[in-house]
Amino acid sequence: MSVTFNDFQGQYAAIRGPIDTAVQRVLSSGWYLLGQELKDFEAKLGARLGGAHVVGVANGTEAIALALMALGIGPGAEVIAPALTAYPTITGIKMSGATPVVADVDPATGLLDLASVEAQITPRTRAIVPVHLYGQSCDLAPLLALAASEDIAVVEDCAQAIDATYQGQPVGTHGVIGCFSFYPTKNLGAYGDAGAVVTRDAALAERLRRHRNYGQSDRYRHELPGINSRLDELQAAILAVKLDYLSEWTTRRRAIAAQYRAGLRGVGLLEEKAYGQHVYHLFPVRVAARDGFMAHLTAAGIQTLIHYPLPIAAQPDFAGQKDERFPGAETLAKEVVSLPLRPDMTDEQVTAVIAAVNSWAGV
Ligand SMILES: *Cc1c(COP(=O)(O)O)cnc(C)c1O
Repeated sequence: MSVTFNDFQGQYAAIRGPIDTAVQRVLSSGWYLLGQELKDFEAKLGARLGGAHVVGVANGTEAIALALMALGIGPGAEVIAPALTAYPTITGIKMSGATPVVADVDPATGLLDLASVEAQITPRTRAIVPVHLYGQSCDLAPLLALAASEDIAVVEDCAQAIDATYQGQPVGTHGVIGCFSFYPTKNLGAYGDAGAVVTRDAALAERLRRHRNYGQSDRYRHELPGINSRLDELQAAILAVKLDYLSEWTTRRRAIAAQYRAGLRGVGLLEEKAYGQHVYHLFPVRVAARDGFMAHLTAAGIQTLIHYPLPIAAQPDFAGQKDERFPGAETLAKEVVSLPLRPDMTDEQVTAVIAAVNSWAGV
């Protein structure tokens, strides 16, 4: 039995008919950027997000940069992000010209720790970027209250959490802007790069549409600073097809996670919070002797990955906070290892993963 972490070809084979139809339609249309396919995808995702305005962009990193740009946050400003996240959260903040500052995460979940965020706020803090890591929402209510009291914007990094909810409402619609990535491995993945920014504020959505297209309002009229960050028609058409399967995929992810939670022995599980729906983009477990554990699973044909091996402050590109300790992030970086969890895993594969983990623990 072999269980790979991703199976892109298998997923394509399962939905090949409607995908090929969509691709052929776009190629034959002769229109490849900022057309009807993008409008349709933005409307379809917006409806799913409770009527929010969706602006398709080129990737999740630029979604974060554009969100900050649209809020007027740039050089001289500080933006707080978690000390454990995918590095592109930080890359996006740096692209805006703002200075990223990290706050620790709760080692029970990997999500931002409120007290640590509070401790990092300075007069220059203009935004907080909570990351809904591994597919689970941060505890947003106290964070939004803190941010509002300090007049700080909340920009949600939802790259790993499409379809996750917090108190019944989709992530990405709680803060002023939500940022999504459709990188191929994400729960809704394009066949290339793609992303989106989401907001309930129509005027802000309009600004975001200009920023993503060289700041252009009318043709050849550039009123705002901008970049080139468009979600192309091919990827938009592909994503619109895949969006029809997302609920089914999320349900399957959650079912596999429930089997893991019930069946795994000898490893630490992260907490699943009752305040929202976790969409299990990843299923990390905590193991002190991680190298041996990973070697054991590799020998059993099961591929694992680490999300993430280095806390942000230890990354060479991250210049600041070298002398500060982030115990939550440091512990997780040492101990986490992600088991394969994808909606197209067979029951036999799920059983094989559980058996391999439990045989390492000797139970
Ligand atoms: C994937 C990811 C991003 C970046 O998305 P890209 O589309 O690859 O630019 C940002 N933040 C987090 C948490 C991610 O997982």
